[in-house]
Amino acid sequence: MSELLIYYNGEFVTKENATVSIYDHGFLYGDGVFEGIRAYNGRVFKLQEHVDRLYDSAKAIALEVPISKEEMSEAILETLRKNDLRDAYIRPIVSRGVGDLGLDPRKCPKPSIYIVSQEWAAMYGDLYEVGLKAITVGIRRNAPDALSPNIKSLNYLNNILAKIEANEKGGDEAIFLDQNGFVSEGSGDNIFVIKNGKIYTPPTINNLKGITRATAIELLEERGYEVIVGNLGLFDMYTADEIFVTGTAAEAAPITKLDGRPIGDGSVGPITKAAVAAFEEVTGSTGTPIYE
Ligand code: PMP
Repeated sequence: MSELLIYYNGEFVTKENATVSIYDHGFLYGDGVFEGIRAYNGRVFKLQEHVDRLYDSAKAIALEVPISKEEMSEAILETLRKNDLRDAYIRPIVSRGVGDLGLDPRKCPKPSIYIVSQEWAAMYGDLYEVGLKAITVGIRRNAPDALSPNIKSLNYLNNILAKIEANEKGGDEAIFLDQNGFVSEGSGDNIFVIKNGKIYTPPTINNLKGITRATAIELLEERGYEVIVGNLGLFDMYTADEIFVTGTAAEAAPITKLDGRPIGDGSVGPITKAAVAAFEEVTGSTGTPIYE
């Protein structure tokens, strides 16, 4: 395959030339926003929703994206075309841009836009069959009134600390609680809990408004399941019949062990299997065509 090309401020550059200035506030301070998007079989899944969330994240940090949403969507599609990709992970990034060493964003006259893409295989490999081991981490999710988890900002340190803790304790994924002890989300995914045939998921105050989460709710309701949005505690997780997480990278992935306790009987349950199958069906058959 020819060399990977990266969109950088309206141009396509090679990996070697896609360098970021040391003075870019995205690098210095995590001052910027991003998205993670997937393409399946030549179609970009939920492109509009991801672009909308990117611009909402930018708005929340008072960052004006210098191109329109239509231009952004087209740049994403063009990046895939340039790299001849059909099944891919796509990472648009908008940083505050180059400034000085101070914090003040007024010193950054021009935001930088990068779009990186790569071929993609299932994130958790064989674990979709047996389920993930999850660990409730001691570090709490960023408080919504400090740095809202609704903002998909370049500052993922909270998530990275959670991942470090989960790795240390032998977990495949970390589960965050919020400042009040309510279940928040995974380090990179939203959470669904199943008990007595009903499906529960936390509201999106203390976590990211997941696009896969919204899709899963829609698909499960269409199939006749009741989905209840409400606060959950650790007890609800430990005593669940099934747990699964959702995310663009993770897709729908079962959790079969949490903090050493088997979830349900410790195997992947029927509603999780239904969610995984429904998600596969929709990703395989919908989305914005890359090549028309
Ligand atoms: N929470 C966090 C912290 C994430 O990084 C992600 C991945 N974007 C999600 C949830 C899931 O969101 P989505 O389904 O939109 O990918």
